[in-house]
Amino acid sequence: MSGAAPADDPFAVLLAVQDLDTAIAQHQHRKAALAERRELEQVRARAAELQAAAVRLDAQRAELAARLSHLEQQAEAVASRRRALEGRLYGARGAAGRDLQAIEAEVDQLARRLDELEDEELAVLTEQEPLDAEAARQRGELGELAARAEQLSAQVAEIDAVLDRELAELTRRRQAEAARLSEPLARRYEEIRARLGGTGAARLVGDHCDGCHLTLPSMEVERIRRLPPDTVVTCEQCGRILVRSWPGGS
Ligand SMILES: [Zn+2]
Repeated sequence: MSGAAPADDPFAVLLAVQDLDTAIAQHQHRKAALAERRELEQVRARAAELQAAAVRLDAQRAELAARLSHLEQQAEAVASRRRALEGRLYGARGAAGRDLQAIEAEVDQLARRLDELEDEELAVLTEQEPLDAEAARQRGELGELAARAEQLSAQVAEIDAVLDRELAELTRRRQAEAARLSEPLARRYEEIRARLGGTGAARLVGDHCDGCHLTLPSMEVERIRRLPPDTVVTCEQCGRILVRSWPGGS
C-alpha cells in the first residue's frame, strides 16, 4: 500500500485511494465468501428440508395411528359381541339345537373376523415401525443441525465483527485520501472504477499496465513517459488511469 506517497502528487494519492478500494473490496468479498457463512446457509437449508420431511412423516404416522385405533375399536366391538353370544350359549342349555347352531356359527364367524382384524393391526404396526425409527432419526439430526447452526452463527458473528471493524477503518482512511483528490480526477476515477470492476487506476510497471496486465507498445510507453507529470494518462487497452512511477515509487 502506498502509505508513503508524496503528498503533492495527485496520482500517488489516486493509487492510495485505489489500493484502499481494493482492500475494501477484498474485505467485503472475504465477508461474503466466509466458509462458515456458507456452511451455516447449508445447515439451515438442510434443517428446513428436514423440517418439511418431518411434517410429511408426522402426517403419515397420524394416518396410521388413526387406522390402528379404528381397527382396535372394530376388534373390541367384535370381541364384545362374541362374549355376549358365548354367554347366551352357556345360559341356553335347554334351547333348540337349531338356535344353538346358529349362535355357534356366528361365534365362529366372529372369531375369524377377530383374526382378520388382528392381522390388519399387525400390518399397520409393521408399517409404523420404520416410520417411527425415521422420525427418531430426523429428530436426532435436527438437534445436531441446530447445535451446529448455533456454533456457526457465533463464529460468523465473531469474524464479521473483526472484518467490520477493519472495513470501518479502511473506509475512514479511504475517505481521508479521496478528499485530497481534485474533483475532476476523483470523478473520472469513480466513473472508470464503476465500469471496470472496481479498478479505476493502475500502475505502469515497466511496459505493462497492472490493471489489464497487457504490455503496451514501446512507442506508447515512451510517449507516456515524456508527457508532463500532471497529464492524466489512460491505458489504451483497458481505459484505466495509468499512474507512472514517481521518484521513490516503483
Ligand atoms: Zn490496462
